[in-house]
Amino acid sequence: MMFKYFLGAFVIGVIINIGVVSPVFAQHNGHVHGQGQLLIAQDINAWRFEFILPAADILGFEHVPQTQAQTDTLHQLIQDVAKVTPFLTLPHYCQLDKVVHQLHDKLVHSKADTPNEHASHQGHMNHSDITIAFEFQCSREIASVQINLFLTAPSLSTLHTQWIIDKSQSASVLTPDSSLLTW
Ligand SMILES: [Zn+2]
Repeated sequence: MMFKYFLGAFVIGVIINIGVVSPVFAQHNGHVHGQGQLLIAQDINAWRFEFILPAADILGFEHVPQTQAQTDTLHQLIQDVAKVTPFLTLPHYCQLDKVVHQLHDKLVHSKADTPNEHASHQGHMNHSDITIAFEFQCSREIASVQINLFLTAPSLSTLHTQWIIDKSQSASVLTPDSSLLTW
């Protein structure tokens, strides 16, 4: 609903690229390994948590999967996303509404990859980000959010977090030692 408008203020144009390899975004927004972003928006009872992470940190590689082990890693990430808790823990009165990502496209792409496409990936897409958005319906206000992602992606050292919610609009930097977000 209003989410695209709100988040657009943070990341113009990135929403349409959700989950895909996005070299333009990577260049313009300082793709730095070990550093991710979390964008939070609230629209009455609806909350959206959007993670933008270097693929190197969440997958361990930034190209399309090229080995069975990398394909397995991608499958594991898809399972982790479905569980939600590898990323964050919300109060019990929040129900998961939807998860938005394009990780399955990466799998399909991988299978259909031709030698030519392969060469172009290696030539032009040296870095990529993974975007995963969780949407919840919460019957009450949220006072804090536990971010569990640092356990899931141990190479991640900082998560630059911004929020536009009813209570406030601000930003904060989360780390493995400070992963409870409050506002
Ligand atoms: Zn990279």
